[in-house]
Amino acid sequence: MSCSKIFLLFLYFSLSQGNVFAQDTIFNDVSRLNPVNVHKVVNVASIGDIRSALQEARSQGLKISIAGKRHSQGGQQACVNCIVLDMLGFNKVLSFDVTNKVIRVQPGATWEQIQAYAKPHGCAVKVMQASNIFTVGGSLGVNTHGNDPNYGSIIETVRSFHFMRADGSLINVSREEDLELFILVIGGYGLFGVIVDVDLELTSDAIYKMTSKVMDYKEYPEYFKTHVFGNRAIGLHSAKLSNAPDSLLREVVVTDYAVTKETDESLFALQGEKNVLRNKFFLGLSRTFDWGKNLRWFFEKRLVAKVGAVEYVSRNNAMRPIVKFLDYSWPNDTDILQEYFIPTDKFTEFVDGLRKIMREDHVNLLSVTVRYVPTDKQSFLHYAKGDCFAVVLYINQRLDEKHRQEAQAWTRKMVDLALSHGGTYYLPYQLYPSKDQVRRSYPEFDQFIEKKRVHDPQELFVNQFYERYR
Ligand SMILES: Cc1cc2nc3c(=O)[nH]c(=O)nc-3n(C[C@H](O)[C@H](O)[C@H](O)COP(=O)(O)OP(=O)(O)OC[C@H]3O[C@@H](n4cnc5c(N)ncnc54)[C@H](O)[C@@H]3O)c2cc1C
Repeated sequence: MSCSKIFLLFLYFSLSQGNVFAQDTIFNDVSRLNPVNVHKVVNVASIGDIRSALQEARSQGLKISIAGKRHSQGGQQACVNCIVLDMLGFNKVLSFDVTNKVIRVQPGATWEQIQAYAKPHGCAVKVMQASNIFTVGGSLGVNTHGNDPNYGSIIETVRSFHFMRADGSLINVSREEDLELFILVIGGYGLFGVIVDVDLELTSDAIYKMTSKVMDYKEYPEYFKTHVFGNRAIGLHSAKLSNAPDSLLREVVVTDYAVTKETDESLFALQGEKNVLRNKFFLGLSRTFDWGKNLRWFFEKRLVAKVGAVEYVSRNNAMRPIVKFLDYSWPNDTDILQEYFIPTDKFTEFVDGLRKIMREDHVNLLSVTVRYVPTDKQSFLHYAKGDCFAVVLYINQRLDEKHRQEAQAWTRKMVDLALSHGGTYYLPYQLYPSKDQVRRSYPEFDQFIEKKRVHDPQELFVNQFYERYR
């Protein structure tokens, strides 16, 4: 073999191992708002990979960030010149106690994988996002919540987790063994160390009777209080406010999933995505035209929510709604998410204020969903400070500097609006809120940073979110 071939082979193996030459790698999240030059990305496949990366970072004075599916949009998975631990390949189901419905998984596992594993055992996830595309690690990192009104955020369903600290030591963390770390790490944005596996409580799968109705947004809080709140017969619940200019934030489609005794096996079969192109087409129209928004809302009520119809759906299937049509990578603009937690009795006033901002600032609003989140009494950096409605905004924004500045300005108005009604905003989204707004929304924020420094004195675990707000 010639010298040049040997050199080329050496080069190939060196680069494919990713650890001989430090490469400049651009890392970004799904919003494409936070590109950053990182030292390298390590595709984690074992605990040994995590330990070696931590050792390398410590010895070379680098930082560590942790990434799941990269759907958080506020620079929470990387920072300049860091080593990113990409957890997606570290995704095995390690054990499943069927009797107690407790599953142990590695953090790169997605909810989709867990559903596929749990379904044959008649089980389903207790708390996760409205869709199943996210990793368990990323969901713990933000302390996610979902559409089951009987539960709050995911911390309620976590029994314990194994955790690697900055010095490479591995510990078990639970409410009994290390309560402080337990409540800091869940919702801790990867700033304390690496979750290497977790014991999660599942629940039984069930068939729900799904019904949707349209009502005025002012009727919604009373409807929720009378029909859904404290009603164990409702397994899932969601609401969608109109983004159509003709009925902007006035009409709401409410969907309830009532528990049934149905056992028809065919209803439990996991469904794939349907109508991706149809939904993509209507979303595309509404991104560009006001009439497109009116048209899409008209069809959504009839085709998607099936207002007036009754349908039977399993819990697993209701928790894997269609999302592929949301994939969007046009170079000039992007779709972003924001979420505001509003005390249930302040919902109507908040929506009125929101409508005003949407109109005055010409925000390109693509959808608005609402779900209920009860008070979180457990996690340290908790967003549900009381029982609240989470108002989730799906917005299209242009990527140029002028539009970024505008987006920052209207976001700050919305944060102030939420604060003025005793609410707060969700941290996984953009870095637009000011330092002062973070602290007004999360009064425990400085204490959170102090505790981070106690548990990670060398500040090994860092990301753009931490750098911006610490
Ligand atoms: C379309 C869409 C819908 C959404 N719907 C909901 C919803 O219904 N409810 C809700 O609550 N949120 C929702 N979100 C927000 C979502 O829950 C978060 O962005 C979540 O973190 C995404 O998971 P991920 O796998 O992409 O995590 P990433 O964004 O990759 O990571 C999130 C955080 O977790 C940390 N992390 C990841 N793995 C580990 C680990 N092993 N150890 C320690 N830290 C770790 C990361 O460092 C990072 O700080 C939605 C977001 C999008 C884009």
